[in-house]
Formats: sequence, C-alpha cells, structure tokens
Amino acid sequence: MSPLINKLLVVVAALTVIWSASPAQVSAQSANANHSLASSYQDAANRIIEAALSDNTAFAKLTELSDRFGHRFSGSESLEHALDWLLEQMSADGLENVHAEPVMVPHWVRGEESATLIEPRRKPLPMLGLGGSVGTPPGGITADVLVVDSFDDLANRAAEAPGKIVLFDVPFTNYGETVRYRSMGAIAAARAGAVASLIRSVTPYSMQTPHTGGMSYSDEVPRIPHAALTIEDASMLHRMQDMGERVVVSLEMDAETLPDAPSRNLIGEIVGSERPEEVVVVGGHSDTWDVGQGAMDDGGGIVAAWEAVRLLHELGLRPRRTVRAVMFVNEENGVRGGTGYRDAHMSELDNHVLAIESDGGVFKPTALGFTGSDEAFDILTGMVPLLAPLGVDVTRGGGGVDIGPIMREGVPGMGLQVDGTHYFWYHHSAADTIDKLDPREMAECAAALAVMVYVVADMEEVLPRTAGG
Ligand SMILES: [Zn+2]
Repeated sequence: MSPLINKLLVVVAALTVIWSASPAQVSAQSANANHSLASSYQDAANRIIEAALSDNTAFAKLTELSDRFGHRFSGSESLEHALDWLLEQMSADGLENVHAEPVMVPHWVRGEESATLIEPRRKPLPMLGLGGSVGTPPGGITADVLVVDSFDDLANRAAEAPGKIVLFDVPFTNYGETVRYRSMGAIAAARAGAVASLIRSVTPYSMQTPHTGGMSYSDEVPRIPHAALTIEDASMLHRMQDMGERVVVSLEMDAETLPDAPSRNLIGEIVGSERPEEVVVVGGHSDTWDVGQGAMDDGGGIVAAWEAVRLLHELGLRPRRTVRAVMFVNEENGVRGGTGYRDAHMSELDNHVLAIESDGGVFKPTALGFTGSDEAFDILTGMVPLLAPLGVDVTRGGGGVDIGPIMREGVPGMGLQVDGTHYFWYHHSAADTIDKLDPREMAECAAALAVMVYVVADMEEVLPRTAGG
C-alpha cells in the first residue's frame, strides 16, 4: 500500500466518522433501507395487486355471506350459521390452523317495537331501539315530548323534563361527536326525570332510515327506554315544538337482555417459514347489528382480511413469520371478541409484530394508518411505493376497536382507511347491504392489506416496538 493511498484511507475514515454522526447521513441510511424494502418486494407486491384486481373472489364471498345469512348479531342463530360457513370456507381455501376460539357474548333481543306520533297528528315514526335498551312497560309509554338540541339545552330546560320523553335532535357533525347522544342520552334524560329518551339517528343523510347502535346506562339513575328516530321525523317534531304545538308520542318496545350466549372468534393462518412464533394479525369483526346485512360493518372487513391471506396462499407466498386472519366476534355490543383474543393469546402478545384492522367499510382505500414507534413508522413508509398502484398511503395514527385490547398490551396497530363519504349513510341501518359496495374497491382493500401483511411478515428485520423493542 503506497503512503498516498494510506493517507486517503485515513481521510475517508475520518469523513465516515463525521458523516455517520450527522442527521443527513442517518436519513440517507433510512432512505436506503426504505429503498431496498421497496425494491426487494416490488415483484411480490405487483403479483399480489394483479391477482387481487383480476378476480371477484372477495366480493362474491361477501355477497354470499350477506345474502345467505343476513345480519349476524351477537347471540343470534344467523351469526352462528355464518361462523360455521366462514370456518368451512377458510379451510376449503387451504388456510392453515383454521379453528374457532370460544367467547361468551351479550344477548340482547329487540323484540317488537314501534313509535307513533299522537299529537298534533297521528303518524307512525320509523324507529330502532338502541342496543342494550330496556323495553317499555306492557302497553308502552305515551307522553309529551321535550325536544332539545344538546346536553346543554337539556340542562337549561331540565325543569320541563320530568314525566316527558326527551328527544335529542342533534345534527350530525362527525361520528365521535354526535354518537355521544346515542351512548349517553338515556343517562342524561333519566337524570332530568324523563320517562324515555329518543335521538335523531347518528347519520349525515337519511331516506327515513333509523340507525341503531350501542348505548349505556348508569347505576345512579333509572334505566329508561332509548331509541332512534329518523332525521326527517326528529327534525319535524322539533319544528312542531318551535311552532308551539303540543307533541305527544307513544313508544312501545319489547327489548330485553337475556343471559350471555356462546360464540367464537375465528382464525386462519399461513404459518411462517422461519419464525412461525412471530405473528402478523389482520382482521375485522364478524358480528353486526340486528338489522341489514352488515355488508360494510363489518362483513367487508373480515372478508378482505381473509382474502389478503388467501391471496398469499394462492400465490405461494409463504412469509418468514406467521400471518393470521382473525374474525373477532361481538365488536358492536361488548368487544368480547377483542378482549377474549387478548386473554387467550396473552403469552404470545410479545411476539405479535403488528395487528391490522379493517372496520370502516371496504370503500376505495386511501391509507394504512399506523400506531407504534417512530422507528417502525419509518420502515413502513418505505412501503409507500409498493402501495402506489392502489393510491394507498402509509400515515400516522390508526387501529381498530377489536385490536384495541392487544394494542393496549403493546402490540403495534394499524387501521385500513377508506373513502368515508358514504359509510355513515348506511352504518347500523337496514340499508347496510351488499348493493352499496363495489367489487373493484373491495379488491383494492384486500390488495392493500395483503401487501402490508406480506412485507411486514417477511422482511428480515422485525418491526421495532418503542424503546428499542
Ligand atoms: Zn364495525
């Protein structure tokens, strides 16, 4: 080695030391890692996307699930028949370790129910009791209605509420904001002395469609019946009150809560080739409300997750780690599937690399939103070029109700985000049916899930948790 080359090597070594300490170098390294992730998996991602978009398997399955079984409410026979069929079909597809894990679920039954406007004129009011509500006494409750437009409005008019039916006529702003009247309305109305509570359905749009959903009681106030009217009727009753009319409604509900019923979470896998104990979960919830078909909430989610795993199997893509499709039961009125999965798998949660949930309808996918460490997010953003043909981004923040219990144990989580324009038009109503969905958009959802699941399950480095995890 000549002295000149020797000197040059010393200079290069010195520069390397300086560079490796600089932020520019760190981000260049991470860009390289991302670039290599994208290039290593470009072929596989293209094959997955092409396979997903070239057939209608997922949509055909969702159609059969929706039309054949109808709703899949916790405690119902139709749910159990649908779960039997899903198990059979996952096995027939060649998924591995297909099995059910027992979970006890709440069993609320709606029974017969009706609401009728008595004064100022007679009119039937399309309605849905809210999940978990008590029924009315036999013969129903007939009472004057007090319409309010917020909890504050009720507090200001509390003196007028005793003995009345309180109606919360609250226009939809966003789900998180407006749903408070569904979940907490019966408590606030009972506290003010009301005998029953009604809400304007939690939706931005209506064709005389009532929407159901979960609700709460408090042990500190009486449990009063709680039901949803349509936008059309809630706003009309409000206008009648504003015109100085006396508004009287008769409400009859047979709803009751029976003892918990046995049900199941469903699982199907592709076992990892090198690190089978490390698991990537992808799923949604099998149950629905007791109206409509739950085609979008969340039939589309479970079928897209299952299709993601089926596609990998069909393409012969067996990743290093295990890929596990999970159909959680009872998201809608108890989350017993999510907590049951956590309890049954507590000892392997440290090896859960990522859990992905699809529960926003299988409309056009826009992003996969991630909750976890910055280091992991950095790696995942390297997949954006792989998802580009689908127009799907990787963003910060996401998860799902069913994977919430394992995320709280430290499992990084992710949620499939979709075009949300129409979801709440149909959500929890008789109109959540298969005809509203599009085969191509659903295939894109399955493709995005499959690419994400495959790369995270197969990449050399395990997705890091926080604090060097
Ligand atoms: Zn859902």
